Amino acid sequence: MATASLSGFPSLASHRPLTDSHGRAIHDLRVSITDRCNYKCVYCRTGEAGAQYPELRIDEYLRLIGIFVDLGITKVRLTGGEPLLRHGVVKLVEELAQLRTQRGEALDLAMTTNGHLLESLAAPLKRAGLNRVTVSMDAVDAATFERITRVQGSYAAVLASIRAARAAGLTPVKINCVLLRGFNDDQIEGFARFAREEDVVVRFIEFMPLEEGRLWSPEIVVTLKEIVERIGRVLPLVEMPAREASETARRYTFEDGRGEIGIIAPVSQAFCGACSRVRLTSDGKIRTCLFSQVEHDLYGRLRGGAGDEELRDYIVRTVQGKEARHHIGEPGFLKPSRSMVHIGG
Ligand code: SAM
Repeated sequence: MATASLSGFPSLASHRPLTDSHGRAIHDLRVSITDRCNYKCVYCRTGEAGAQYPELRIDEYLRLIGIFVDLGITKVRLTGGEPLLRHGVVKLVEELAQLRTQRGEALDLAMTTNGHLLESLAAPLKRAGLNRVTVSMDAVDAATFERITRVQGSYAAVLASIRAARAAGLTPVKINCVLLRGFNDDQIEGFARFAREEDVVVRFIEFMPLEEGRLWSPEIVVTLKEIVERIGRVLPLVEMPAREASETARRYTFEDGRGEIGIIAPVSQAFCGACSRVRLTSDGKIRTCLFSQVEHDLYGRLRGGAGDEELRDYIVRTVQGKEARHHIGEPGFLKPSRSMVHIGG
């Protein structure tokens, strides 16, 4: 039954899926738990700026995530910045693993990490209840990789982490690779082999205008079409069926069925119509789209003493206003004021 909210409107928060005004069910929450990062990937950060936003306490993330889960979220992905820099991350995962969805099931718990600190944390995270990891890796050649991350020894650390994650059962291990023309697009075929040799799912992501600097141009984006054509020339690909409508990646396997690659094409083939995501930034702002021009201050309400019911109403109303789509490449497109590292990718 609807209850009265503090705003005087009937509460929209009952046990039914969280939806937006475009009819999309929102079940995927990405939470940045810090905007600090130990890498300075050249396409993401200028190398001059550090962390820019505060972090909530772990118990505050838990309270807010718990409310989202009550409202219908079933997948939570921890990200950053670099989430493994956050003290208390294993404990946070352990607590999140206790939450139950509206159907009484455990959450699908995942993390996106650069992997630098994952080798020793993979097994503890798995024990705590993490289901899967996505490790970001933009080259399979050590020298190129270290030129991108601007951290010596990063390639060896990340490779060891990928193997540790697989051994710990954080599977399927997915690798995110952002391609920039003339910079690391010579790695495409190497990644296809890497997927097969390391038994990981490699996902190429089109570069989006979300960097700290001003690097993005339509020409620098390596499109889905081009990636498929190039890999197909050395290792013929077979497209795989989508598992769910909101799946972001177009998936392919190879002719012998060994190995998988996926391509996430938010620029050349936007999938906004099936978007099921909202984000919570490290400082507790809701972002309903990566490209939102406005943020919604959930933490401000929590700090102001709002009860769970008021926070629920606020989330429901905010999600209702989720943007229909992004406008990358259109005249008048404006980059959001926060870049990817400060939003949580
Ligand atoms: N530090 C973690 C990591 O490296 O995975 C989590 C945060 S990082 C911002 C999340 C993902 O966003 C990484 O895979 C990164 O490559 C990707 N990314 C960063 N800037 C991007 C951009 N402008 N377009 C597309 N992906 C981007």
